[in-house]
Amino acid sequence: TLGGAHSPIDLRTDQPHSARMYDYYLGGKDNFPADREAAEQALAAFPNARVASHANRAFMVRTTRHLAGEAGVRQFLDIGTGIPTSPNLHEVAQSVAPDARVVYADNDPIVLTHARALLTSTPQGTTTYLDVDLHDPESILAAPELRTALDLTRPVALSLIAIMHFIPDADDPRGLLGRLLRELPSGSYLTLTHATADHDEGMERLAAAYRAGGIPAQARTRAEVARFFDGLELLDPGLQIVHRWRPDGAAPTDLTDAQVSFYGAVGRKP
Ligand code: SAH
Repeated sequence: TLGGAHSPIDLRTDQPHSARMYDYYLGGKDNFPADREAAEQALAAFPNARVASHANRAFMVRTTRHLAGEAGVRQFLDIGTGIPTSPNLHEVAQSVAPDARVVYADNDPIVLTHARALLTSTPQGTTTYLDVDLHDPESILAAPELRTALDLTRPVALSLIAIMHFIPDADDPRGLLGRLLRELPSGSYLTLTHATADHDEGMERLAAAYRAGGIPAQARTRAEVARFFDGLELLDPGLQIVHRWRPDGAAPTDLTDAQVSFYGAVGRKP
């Protein structure tokens, strides 16, 4: 039984979950009928959800490679990790910097049940998993596992990749982010991607399909996403639809903004 006899994990397979719907778009196998049904509704609203998810994943790979490489970051905090998908962030970071220390965090029990697949590491680095909610930044920062893995006097690359659109304005996403960034030293980074309906209103219908399935979701405009980076210095080329951020030729180059419909950027805390 998942989680063992003393802490059974209820996956609520009767309800759609964002992690499992995303897994479905990516062609993964860790999803259930309710997820697939909701994902098909979302795909009817925004048929490029698969393309967009792959472009989002490729952005994660490029930004992580840059941060662990040229930028010299050795500590990563990835909130909203998702179901393991190759390559995972720690694999990218540790392929560039074997001593990279990575803390993953997600609030979905399905991700927790797969944490073992994430918890591989180079001998020089570490990989840790936290079962936590972005709505509670203090618990994330105070987690003993995080305190053991990360030295918060040294720069940390915080990643919030395809998660903030699940935090509606009523939950004060900028306030939550601010509480995390406040605890990170100068020279830390924020990598964030976010769904937008700026180029295809189908993304708005996709968000509505999530809400209909009981998952709060909100697409945001370019200006709204830009505000998450207030007080940070954006690395070139700034806030872009993700496939335009330092393309490396590994991902398709003929994508349109409407197809991808995810903004992304990397900001540095001065
Ligand atoms: N970052 C990965 C996965 C994105 S899917 C990628 O971009 O490829 C979004 C993930 O965010 C899911 O795994 C979901 O469980 C998680 N998530 C959503 N709301 C959350 C919250 N409030 N706290 C923690 N994780 C959350």
